[in-house]
Amino acid sequence: MAGGAPRFDLPTPDPSTEPFWEASRAGRLLVRRCRACGRAHFYPRPFCPTCWSDQVDWEEASGRATLYTWSVVHQNDLPPFAERVPYVAAVVDLEEGPRMMTNVVDCPFEDLRVGMALEVTFRAETEEISLPLFRPVPAW
Ligand SMILES: [Zn+2]
Repeated sequence: MAGGAPRFDLPTPDPSTEPFWEASRAGRLLVRRCRACGRAHFYPRPFCPTCWSDQVDWEEASGRATLYTWSVVHQNDLPPFAERVPYVAAVVDLEEGPRMMTNVVDCPFEDLRVGMALEVTFRAETEEISLPLFRPVPAW
């Protein structure tokens, strides 16, 4: 792939999400929790999607989640996915409540199960962006 090829998998941090990406670089997963109704949400927004309060605080998530649903992607022509297929596009339920779109890694496809225990891991894509991914919790 040419060095300047566009990447379709990387977010562009803005002031409302920069703390999230800064934490990801340090290996910490953040969610936002509403002071008014107590609910956590993801992706990070400057207001609560449940009650619309703007009293939302950053909170470090446990990194624990369960698998809600997934799809094994065999074809995706957008860079860099073409080099990565097949991969697991997944939706996970964070322990704090929010549902998050992500990838499951380090897991044979045939071992994927609804409700399986996952933990967050991070993959550095660039100096600025590390993506939160999930892998099975080791069985020990
Ligand atoms: Zn709220």
